[in-house]
Amino acid sequence: MSAGGRASLWRVSLLCRCPRCGQGPLYQGLLTIRARCPVCGLDLTGNDAADGAVVAVTLVLGTLLVVLAFIVEFTVAPPLWVHALLWPAIGTPLAVIMIRPAKAFLVAQQYRNRPDQMGQS
Ligand SMILES: [Zn+2]
Repeated sequence: MSAGGRASLWRVSLLCRCPRCGQGPLYQGLLTIRARCPVCGLDLTGNDAADGAVVAVTLVLGTLLVVLAFIVEFTVAPPLWVHALLWPAIGTPLAVIMIRPAKAFLVAQQYRNRPDQMGQS
């Protein structure tokens, strides 16, 4: 934890940790944010990450996958069913892997910029 009661923004985002102590896990399950940090007790119910991370990841990952699909189509030209199986199989786990740190980043940014909404003043 750095001075001022805030952990490094990039560290808490990439490791999906509490924005205050940097130790407690942010998620309970796959993408559900805990109500309270089990280490420092920070109230996380006021987080407002909403769909921001999902939209950003969808735009970036969707663009990347479409470009890759075109490359595969024009170089290998597989049957259509290969595309139908391949891209969801790649895109779904990648989306979850990317959404977790993106959502943690938004929660950490809210903690830094609007601490009154997360039980801080
Ligand atoms: Zn904490």
